[in-house]
Amino acid sequence: MDSFENSNHLEITSNSNNNNNNNSNIASSSSSSPSTTSSRYENQKRRDWNTFGQYLKNHRPPLSLSRCSGAHVLEFLRYLDQFGKTKIHTPICPFYGHPNPPAPCPCPLRQAWGSLDALIGRLRAAYEENGGKPETNPFGARAVRLYLREVRDLQSKARGVSYEKKKRKRPPPSHQLPSPPPPALPPSGET
Ligand SMILES: [Zn+2]
Repeated sequence: MDSFENSNHLEITSNSNNNNNNNSNIASSSSSSPSTTSSRYENQKRRDWNTFGQYLKNHRPPLSLSRCSGAHVLEFLRYLDQFGKTKIHTPICPFYGHPNPPAPCPCPLRQAWGSLDALIGRLRAAYEENGGKPETNPFGARAVRLYLREVRDLQSKARGVSYEKKKRKRPPPSHQLPSPPPPALPPSGET
């Protein structure tokens, strides 16, 4: 039940169980079982694809799908953040790392990692269903994967929740960022 159909706002909803990693095209033309879950997924996918098409159309300078790269996908994801509804605490917030903060705080709202991750999965599938080649699929770009992983780590720390399904054997985080952000970030004045 999507009760909020807001045509003017670009909204993505997190599908509760989208954990089936559809690495490649699961939908072969032959079998389309009429299960409600899959048709809901299909609807959501179509909507996401339209949303992205709309985004390309409004893009300045104009951007065609064929020239769309992973960098543009990242741009799109950051753009979507303004419609996000998930509170992501900044490191200076007293509720940083608290799953259930007892009071409001001025931290920004963002798209939740789970929503973005599911969205990318749907767009990636849609791209290939609409004739795009897997090799050039911008939604499968390495940069996008890395970005999503970064968002996941950041959000799980900020919200005090774990998205970890299985333990990865990995040494403690040694970030290779050129320079760590200062403790107090000024609001980015982008509109
Ligand atoms: Zn906060």
